[in-house]
Amino acid sequence: MDLEEAFETLAQGKQLTAMDLDRSVRTQLTEYGIQVREGVLSSQSSEFLDASVIAAQLHESTRTWLKRLDVLSCTQSTNTDLLDLSRDSDIDGRIRTAEVQTSGRGRRGRQWISPFAKNVALSVGIAVDRSTAEIGGVSLAIGLVVAQVLDDLQIEDVGLKWPNDILIDKRKVGGILIELADAQRPASLVVGVGINVHDAPGVQVTGNYRATRIVDHLASCSRNSLVAHLINKIYDAIRRFEDFGFDPFKEGWERRDVLRGKSVVLTGSEPPISGIGAGIDDEGAYLIKTATGVERAIGGELSLRITDR
Ligand code: ATP
Repeated sequence: MDLEEAFETLAQGKQLTAMDLDRSVRTQLTEYGIQVREGVLSSQSSEFLDASVIAAQLHESTRTWLKRLDVLSCTQSTNTDLLDLSRDSDIDGRIRTAEVQTSGRGRRGRQWISPFAKNVALSVGIAVDRSTAEIGGVSLAIGLVVAQVLDDLQIEDVGLKWPNDILIDKRKVGGILIELADAQRPASLVVGVGINVHDAPGVQVTGNYRATRIVDHLASCSRNSLVAHLINKIYDAIRRFEDFGFDPFKEGWERRDVLRGKSVVLTGSEPPISGIGAGIDDEGAYLIKTATGVERAIGGELSLRITDR
């Protein structure tokens, strides 16, 4: 049995015996958080993703737009899947989520790490009738939407770190990765969202101070309900963005800006620029007040680091 078949079996809530698997597959499974006890491997998950449970919680308008919702046990990356599909089909209304991604991605090829059947990896294919120049603001708008979804769960102190991090109590709980499948108007986008629900890299082992997970802030959380809630809100936000651009999202975003008033260093530009975080402009670029003036950081190219945490 290969790794994919093993994930497929585990996603049905079944167990595997160590004897069924090669040593290399066993090792890989443990790297994705699968536990081995007395020769038996199981995911220990109390809830698996279920397309019918998710679909039942979608709003009427979202359901009308939706063309297909795929729930996979395992894939390389839900964003990559939709980008691949976009080469010969229209991805507007196509949604993918998976129990595990073997090559989960963040910005600029960075890795997004997540164990099996614990968290959310969601990609939404959607068309947006706005110019390419304006599309940059979608990443921030979706960040705000995800923060509001966490608010709806009664989680406190949900913040945003430009350009694409969702934080709880200053620790990273999720990330957004917006990718352009087709720039021609209406632009075709893949809206990717990763959220740590039951686990986050290193939190259990090392108490990683940079990452957190929802269950550290909430007694319980259904991943199916969370996925449905995210899909509803992402769909509504994109329709709003299409009508009004970034403007209706700006104030909400600014209220959650964790960099504002902090010493920040803009890396990715040469030389790095140091200054004080001064919020976003109308296009969603981040402003940094330096000794000589105000510098503008543009989405997708630069990273901001807080120097005084
Ligand atoms: P940073 O948070 O360091 O500014 P970034 O915003 O440039 O990173 P992203 O695309 O948001 O990068 O996410 C990738 C980075 O997030 C990885 O390099 C890793 O440090 C971190 N990371 C990966 N998986 C997780 C996770 N499940 N939870 C929290 N952080 C993660």
